[in-house]
Amino acid sequence: MTLHPDRRRFVGASSAALLAACAPQFIRRRQSYDLVIRGGTLFDGLGGAGTELDVAITGDRIAAIARRISGIGRDEIDARGLAVAPGFIDIHSHGDGNMDEDPRQESLIRQGLTTIVVGQDGSSRAPRARARTGGAEPGEESAQSFNAVFDAINKLPPSVNVASMIGLGSVRAAVVGEDDRPATPAEMARMVAIVEQALTEGACGASSGLEYTPGAFAPLAELIELCRPLAARRLPYATHMRNEDDRLLEAIDESIAVSRGAQCPLQIAHLKTQGPRNWNKLDTVFARVANARASGLDVAFDRYPYIAYQTGLSNLFPVWSKDGGTQAFLARLIAPATAARIRTEAIGKADLIGGWENVLIASARAEQDKPAEGRRLGSYAKSLGADPYDLAVAMLRRNNGSVGMVGFAMSEENLDRILAHPYGMVCSDGGAYATDGPTRRGSPHPRGAGSFPRVIAKYVRERKALALEQAIHKMTALPASRVRLADRGILRQGLAADVVVFDAAQIADTATYEQPFSYPVGVHAVILNGAIALREGQRGAQRTGRALQPA
Ligand SMILES: [Zn+2]
Repeated sequence: MTLHPDRRRFVGASSAALLAACAPQFIRRRQSYDLVIRGGTLFDGLGGAGTELDVAITGDRIAAIARRISGIGRDEIDARGLAVAPGFIDIHSHGDGNMDEDPRQESLIRQGLTTIVVGQDGSSRAPRARARTGGAEPGEESAQSFNAVFDAINKLPPSVNVASMIGLGSVRAAVVGEDDRPATPAEMARMVAIVEQALTEGACGASSGLEYTPGAFAPLAELIELCRPLAARRLPYATHMRNEDDRLLEAIDESIAVSRGAQCPLQIAHLKTQGPRNWNKLDTVFARVANARASGLDVAFDRYPYIAYQTGLSNLFPVWSKDGGTQAFLARLIAPATAARIRTEAIGKADLIGGWENVLIASARAEQDKPAEGRRLGSYAKSLGADPYDLAVAMLRRNNGSVGMVGFAMSEENLDRILAHPYGMVCSDGGAYATDGPTRRGSPHPRGAGSFPRVIAKYVRERKALALEQAIHKMTALPASRVRLADRGILRQGLAADVVVFDAAQIADTATYEQPFSYPVGVHAVILNGAIALREGQRGAQRTGRALQPA
């Protein structure tokens, strides 16, 4: 049936008039909202215990929070027996990596995530270095600004909110290139200007990836210079440190030195003590963090809830061998002058995490290497009758240097302590993917689909490493304050309506290293900017993610 617009308006008006005439006191007293979440145990994100409270939402804001909201919602969620919390915030995410390809971002929203902080490990969407083979024109690195990045996000839009740091590796790639050399004074000035500009446009911090090239070629003095613009804004320098195993303490010291030199907050990314022989260093790490804080520096860290990390297979190879970029690296792997030394160092690094059996091949593009996906490199090499190191080199050469790996190298007890530490936050360090569509490929680390539910299932319920309200705090208000997202991460009247409703007794990850394409259970509803993004497994009609900038 179709009604003429005028006729429809007449029907609407007359029924409202009729209602008003019949029960004027009812109309006046009963405020109405877009959505009311009733009867849940509310955790406001600040770390206190849950309380039974209703939440009302109008537009994209929280309109009211009260013991019992008498107003009615156009839509209502019965949350009795469930936890109601601010939507989770991932302080270290790679979830924007394929959002253009699949903006549904299923593995994120189904964890209860509503905001991801990207631009991590020294790599961000801007500036983007153009092909430098023909020689870079001065200023071309600003071809893509953060304004353009944010515009593109808002135009997409994604399924979660996206805040971004500026990657200092991207800045170096755009200005200095891939070479292992100090920046000239003119290049330093250009890099500082790019960082300033990005922060002015709304980047929420600056990240480094000092195990990755060309970011690794930056000395301490360069990092300090590039981080100075963070100080006045109280935004963090977030670092994937130069080393996370045998030289972990030196790397911690360097990170603190950047913070001290630039007088900016420090966020140590995915803090870990990698390799069994380094597991005993955690007390010293915590002591150095405490000392830095006692001296007035704002130092914190984050960690994903898994004892295996994921990176490129090339990360097992020395940084010096990558000077000049991928082609130079691939050539050195087999050049007589360098092959033996690289071999010794790479095997040393593999031994450090317990040998090739602790290296799982996550992804490879070459057809010949597809069977390796999801296999341990040690046993896969054995099945081929190959030497594992030679196979690793062959795979890197067949895949243009790009082979994904998962390394099993961390301690469960240390993970408990890192997550439970008052300055520890939860991150995923993962990407986004779906069980269907173009992002179902390779063998990604399960953290991209499981991290946030897993912290509650394994580290709150099973291992009792921390309390539920603490875990929620580390997923909400704490990361929001870290990157100064002023109206996120807390459930309070007037703030943004990003909410997750979950069963605290049931929520759990189901993705594994063998079967990563599996969504969590126990997340009943996710509200993003006031709109229902997920409800009992069904996605909302629209994607309502936005680009977020610090206050
Ligand atoms: Zn990293």
